[in-house]
Amino acid sequence: MNRIYMDNSATTYLKPEVLDVLIDALKNHNSNAASAHSFGQEGKMDLSRSREKVASLIGAEPREVYFTSGGTEADNWAVHIAKKTRKGKHMITTTIEHHAILHTMEEAIKEGYEVTFLPVDENGLVSPEQVEEAIREDTILISIHYGNNEIGTIQPIEEIGAVARKHKVLFHTDAVQAVGNVPIDLSSSNIDMMSFSAHKIYGPKGVGALFIRKNVKPYPFIHGGAQEKGYRGGTDNLPSIIAFAKACELAEEGMEDHIKRLTSLRDRLIKGLLENIPHSKLNGHPTQRLPGNVNISFKFIEGESILLMLDMQGIAASSGSACTSGSLDPSHVLMGIGLSHEIAHGSLRLTLGDTTIEEDVDKVIEKLPPIIQRLREMSPLYEEEMRK
Ligand SMILES: *Cc1c(COP(=O)(O)O)cnc(C)c1O
Repeated sequence: MNRIYMDNSATTYLKPEVLDVLIDALKNHNSNAASAHSFGQEGKMDLSRSREKVASLIGAEPREVYFTSGGTEADNWAVHIAKKTRKGKHMITTTIEHHAILHTMEEAIKEGYEVTFLPVDENGLVSPEQVEEAIREDTILISIHYGNNEIGTIQPIEEIGAVARKHKVLFHTDAVQAVGNVPIDLSSSNIDMMSFSAHKIYGPKGVGALFIRKNVKPYPFIHGGAQEKGYRGGTDNLPSIIAFAKACELAEEGMEDHIKRLTSLRDRLIKGLLENIPHSKLNGHPTQRLPGNVNISFKFIEGESILLMLDMQGIAASSGSACTSGSLDPSHVLMGIGLSHEIAHGSLRLTLGDTTIEEDVDKVIEKLPPIIQRLREMSPLYEEEMRK
């Protein structure tokens, strides 16, 4: 069966060019970049060339890019830097962050910090005014994600950053979903720190970066050797970093086309599903939205059962609940935008990527409505509704 992968927000496949670079690097560019001999010197060159490519994608200076093991580490690190270098006990974030920030904040609360979790509106937006009102004398960090991994909403990041700057509060953004999908130019930006990750932009897993603006003092989260100017110990994962750099280079070259193509496929899918399935509703902002993100709630059914039936048709998607992770709680993001438990449970996320073609979109538009109909016919809630 020809399988259709629509879970690109969970992870992306490696682009063939990236895979080639990775394999070559595992064979030929796999030295310890800290060694003094010629192998190490070549590694150092590889590392610095990679840093330039990664920096170029986001309009940063190479020295502002610190390699990490991925987005999660970068998020943890950013919070750590604020705690270690600023005086104060208060931080601001939103209720719909990725767990890499939410759980890090919850840990900080256990250590005695106070955290304001800003609510978002029905589209998933937080406003700069809300952020400004939450700032206190002792606020050390504002951490707000750039684009949401579940509902795709893109936050007014520069406006929020301007508020942070005005009040001289450190501003971090988790841009794991935004980098490569939204043009970002940190050379003229109010962002102080920014997390991103290779495996969400067609690179390998286990590598990412934290951008730390040059006037912000870092503080190590992982202690060890002198790598990353002594701020992040651990032998550089050179092959992965080289492949990450290739992914960044390709993302930069193809950005405009990528955004145009995915936005058009996304809107085709949204329109096709909403038109063909009654009692369905789009989650997240209609336009201020990641190019590949579709998130729709279908009344009267469970997202998990939709997933299983789609999977049987060879279509990979993701649902609005965390059942897969062993919990029955609906997604905190869908609850955060005000959905009821029931509606949140009946939600489906389809995230498109570079391998998605129009035929895939049309196949989903064809296959999904009968699945929803069949599931509804088994649903007592639906039966009740129909009797009304
Ligand atoms: C995937 C993701 C992360 C985690 O990145 P890893 O590289 O998998 O650790 C963090 N934040 C967001 C928004 C993500 O989508």
